[in-house]
Amino acid sequence: MSEPTLHHGSCHCKAVQYTAKIDLTAAIRCNCSLCKKKSATMLRIPHADFTLLQGQDNLSTYVWGTKVAKHYFCKTCGIYTHHQPRTAPDKYGVNAGTLDGVEPTELTFEVLNGAELALPE
Ligand SMILES: [Zn+2]
Repeated sequence: MSEPTLHHGSCHCKAVQYTAKIDLTAAIRCNCSLCKKKSATMLRIPHADFTLLQGQDNLSTYVWGTKVAKHYFCKTCGIYTHHQPRTAPDKYGVNAGTLDGVEPTELTFEVLNGAELALPE
């Protein structure tokens, strides 16, 4: 773990933009059926450390299974920016690939066994 630092992020078309305080050493990937298809490296942060700068109206929400987790993505370019995890209601999962200057393939990540939970993360 290291000190969280402030990052700016956006979807591909830049309609959705945010800032987030993130510890890049705490990356995760999840093997649940949705995350497998999204194939994103994610970082979990407290709600207070995430600020949506613009694009609220451009976000669409995907829910499935228990409908507790909320997966947000841009209506225009389809990119998943962040989600509200079912198992961590006080946190957001942020898509590392949407962070400026961050190369997700260079991050070390832990695998969250969402498939074993048998419920959506
Ligand atoms: Zn977009």
